[in-house]
Amino acid sequence: MKVPPQNKANNDEFVSVIRNYLSSDLNRNRYFMSITAGFDSYARVMTLSETHIAIVGSGIGGLAFAHAAYLCGFRVTVIEQAEILSEIGSGISIWENGLEALEAIGLRAEVETRGLAWPHYEMHRAGKSPIMRNNQILSRRGNVSPLIIKRGELFGALKDKLSQYINIFTSFKLDHIEGHTLRAQDGREIEADIIIGADGAHSRVRQELTDRVPRFCNQICFRGISPPQNGSPIRGAEVYDKHRHRFGYFPLPDNEVYWFDIVDSEIPRQSFEDFQTEIGGLSPRIAQLIHDTPDASILCHPIEEMKPVIAAHNHIALIGDAAHPMQPSLGQGACLALEDAIVLADCLKRHAPDYPKAIRAYISTRKGRWNSYYKMCRQLGTGALDKGDFGRKLAIARMAHTPNWALSLFGRKIFAFKQNDIRF
Ligand SMILES: Cc1cc2nc3c(=O)[nH]c(=O)nc-3n(C[C@H](O)[C@H](O)[C@H](O)COP(=O)(O)OP(=O)(O)OC[C@H]3O[C@@H](n4cnc5c(N)ncnc54)[C@H](O)[C@@H]3O)c2cc1C
Repeated sequence: MKVPPQNKANNDEFVSVIRNYLSSDLNRNRYFMSITAGFDSYARVMTLSETHIAIVGSGIGGLAFAHAAYLCGFRVTVIEQAEILSEIGSGISIWENGLEALEAIGLRAEVETRGLAWPHYEMHRAGKSPIMRNNQILSRRGNVSPLIIKRGELFGALKDKLSQYINIFTSFKLDHIEGHTLRAQDGREIEADIIIGADGAHSRVRQELTDRVPRFCNQICFRGISPPQNGSPIRGAEVYDKHRHRFGYFPLPDNEVYWFDIVDSEIPRQSFEDFQTEIGGLSPRIAQLIHDTPDASILCHPIEEMKPVIAAHNHIALIGDAAHPMQPSLGQGACLALEDAIVLADCLKRHAPDYPKAIRAYISTRKGRWNSYYKMCRQLGTGALDKGDFGRKLAIARMAHTPNWALSLFGRKIFAFKQNDIRF
């Protein structure tokens, strides 16, 4: 059965695309300038609205790209294997680069109201006194706090603001791609001019470009959200234990607390119960947090990584974890997915209708950043483990004692998003 690429009357959709295109100051100026310059922009709107983009995967990257592509004027369809659009998960940190990408699609303010700014935190080496860290220096001008937010809230902001003219097909598990046709396991089909793989670390779309798969890094991550804590508000902190654990906890709105624990493991999934006593021994506060968190809500996730995919394809592009699954050492995977989304949409718009060129431009813009994050995350994550107990102690000491000026230089380079002038 073929699924039509749109579920609304063409006219409505076209009017909405035009309205959206003209709602951006930049586009409006271009459009009115072009009236005198030979209707160039009109032709461009026509071209974009005739181009159908199918996005596989409705995670943070897929939905952000859906917004960006729609705002550019493309016809957009999102397909998702799950029965409903939702995000399971605990908390997440969104740094300046991610916030800037959200700003480009008009969602920064909405997301900020749902999370909590995270200006500073304490770093403990288990058993030693804390060192205070300022997170704002990890931004372009040294004054932007990252945000801690529940994943469901970030996802909610992206989902709730999706235009009704974006087609969404749920329970559509992509089985394979033949040319421009996407075929689901249940036999449904969609045709698209451009296919975006936003289908996560174990991407099916990626198989069209490479047969590489992510490697398990012999670490797992437990994550949870503990209910509101009594007493004075908690300050975010990370506790490093020289043998096994990196435990972080961060305040959320309404005094809830997001926490995670990264720990060595030979196998990709383990029961939290087996680690409870060991983790509880890190500090009384941590013992309280994990005690208060309902067992059933604690998630276990394998830590995986894969070298970024920089192979180009004429009409297929990858964003987010599909392109570059990496260790979560810097809390940047979703931020990079947000960046990818707006850079890719911008390239497609700028180079339309030469989409192969647009995809090449996207990859060449992004690959340096993907590779450097991949390496840094590895160094801060399992890179230290590869060098044994001494290597881990050294990595912890480096994190604790890097002077502020060095962190600030690093922050300016890494957490700022160079394409921050993209607006749709
Ligand atoms: C422990 C941990 C902590 C992290 N903390 C942070 C953090 O603090 N900050 C940060 O920025 N990042 C963080 N990350 C990284 C972040 O979670 C990911 O990089 C991000 O969620 C990736 O989003 P995505 O949209 O690319 O993929 P996903 O969120 O994986 O979405 C993929 C979507 O594709 C769908 N899909 C898959 N296959 C198919 C198919 N065949 N057909 C149809 N649909 C399909 C899936 O159902 C899913 O909805 C962390 C990661 C981990 C593991």
